[in-house]
Amino acid sequence: MIISSSKTFEEVLVSLEGIDNVFVIGCNVCAARLHVGGEPEVLDMCAKLKAAGKNVVGWALPTAACSIQSYEKLVEKGPGIQKADAILVMACGSGTSVVSMLVDVPVYPSNNTDSLGGRSQEQVIPHLCEMCGACNIQEFGGICPKANCPKGLLNGPCGGSISGKCEVDTEQECAWELIYRQLEKTGRLKLLEKIIGPRDYN
Ligand code: SF4
Ligand code: SF4
Repeated sequence: MIISSSKTFEEVLVSLEGIDNVFVIGCNVCAARLHVGGEPEVLDMCAKLKAAGKNVVGWALPTAACSIQSYEKLVEKGPGIQKADAILVMACGSGTSVVSMLVDVPVYPSNNTDSLGGRSQEQVIPHLCEMCGACNIQEFGGICPKANCPKGLLNGPCGGSISGKCEVDTEQECAWELIYRQLEKTGRLKLLEKIIGPRDYN
């Protein structure tokens, strides 16, 4: 799940300065689950834009903003897009980019894209993967230190953790403590004896 968060409405208005006819596109996957681009948020955005004097020519909620097939599909969902001077996308940067490729008017993001995370047991986990392009998460019991240890230590821990909390961010658990517990639980503590080399950036 791509974690994105809403820009302030004031920021959105500044980006839309001088534009009258706005079409709003949400995303019914990640952004909807995070409550930053699902139907209620899109409708709320449309109402706020109208109240701010914009002419909202329509809105659409594709299943996933990052995988819209064609402009025609967008027109099917919201014919008003044909009258738009600009599109406001309430999704991650990937969704905003895909929309930009399909239309010939300016596209503006209403969200900031923060990280690659997930959602489990009704909890959003904001930071799970750094998209390093060389996944070896199996070496760490399925908990990625590149994403979860602020020092990105592949051969941790650093020795600074205090009562299981990270010395850099005392709000978060030490990633290496979590890795240790996970490896212990699955009977693979032996993995800690292995030295993990740096990624080959060539
Ligand atoms: S090693 Fe970590 S950062 Fe790299 S792809 Fe796997 S989970 Fe993502
Ligand atoms: S305390 Fe743990 S999570 Fe924090 S920097 Fe050190 S090894 Fe990484």
